[in-house]
Amino acid sequence: GIKKKEVKILILGLNNSGKSTIVNHLKSEEDKVLNIVPTVGLNVEKFKYHNVGFTAFDMSGHGKYRDLWEHYYRESEGIIFVIDSSDTLRIAVVRDELDILLQHPDIVTRRIPILFFANKMDLRDSLSTVKIATILGLERIEDKPWHICASNALNGEGLQEGSEWFTQAIC
Ligand code: GDP
Repeated sequence: GIKKKEVKILILGLNNSGKSTIVNHLKSEEDKVLNIVPTVGLNVEKFKYHNVGFTAFDMSGHGKYRDLWEHYYRESEGIIFVIDSSDTLRIAVVRDELDILLQHPDIVTRRIPILFFANKMDLRDSLSTVKIATILGLERIEDKPWHICASNALNGEGLQEGSEWFTQAIC
């Protein structure tokens, strides 16, 4: 039969935004996890289920490892961008990182979907999705399908909505 090639997804965000917690949810929702490569240095996490390979990266450390995660842009067919909605101090850093991402040569010309998780929505001082979309200037993304979804990675709220949108956008 026809062998479908693996779809590659990148999960990005600052450290402590909730990437690992979201990844753990994605894993536990499916029994068909083929292999899990545990984090080795650099806060990289890789796993795979069905035909989808996920690679998660911390966009932290003042871009020290930027080359490393940017190396994955070319082959990625979708990006999940995780934001700590309660981290108002670093929302400007998030915006800077998003700008750099959107201007990257391997991203700028491609119509790859971007799903934003406004995570930690359960925390009292978390910013709304509308507020985050405004601060990050998401309306300017006109050449790529994108979606922002509030989530609570601790209990899984919002993750399914996001995943459903993402699956549709990728296929
Ligand atoms: P990563 O560095 O991006 O992988 O972030 P982690 O997944 O390790 O999460 C960082 C911390 O935030 C951990 O203590 C998590 O338990 C916590 N956390 C993750 N998601 C949520 C959430 O939606 N709400 C709350 N209140 N805490 C969260």
